[in-house]
Amino acid sequence: MIGVVLFTFIAFIFSILIVFLNGYLFNKDEKLSKIEEMLPGYNCGSCGFGSCKGMAEAILNDKEAVKKCRPLKDKEKILKYLGE
Ligand code: SF4
Repeated sequence: MIGVVLFTFIAFIFSILIVFLNGYLFNKDEKLSKIEEMLPGYNCGSCGFGSCKGMAEAILNDKEAVKKCRPLKDKEKILKYLGE
């Protein structure tokens, strides 16, 4: 009987962990896609991140990175999206 209770408890803890991680990762992917959509999409690499996707990842880690994209006219739109 104690084995069933223990197994149920462990399964419950793992399910909470999976739901939490899934929500965190999904939210990050969604933000990355949204930021990438707002970038010019030239993939010129002049920002130093190799591509617009690389730049989107950099912006997620540091909002100030958005300033390195010279072709981007509306930097405020991305900063506003990130909650500036
Ligand atoms: S400078 Fe801008 S357009 Fe060029 S790769 Fe970087 S984010 Fe994309």
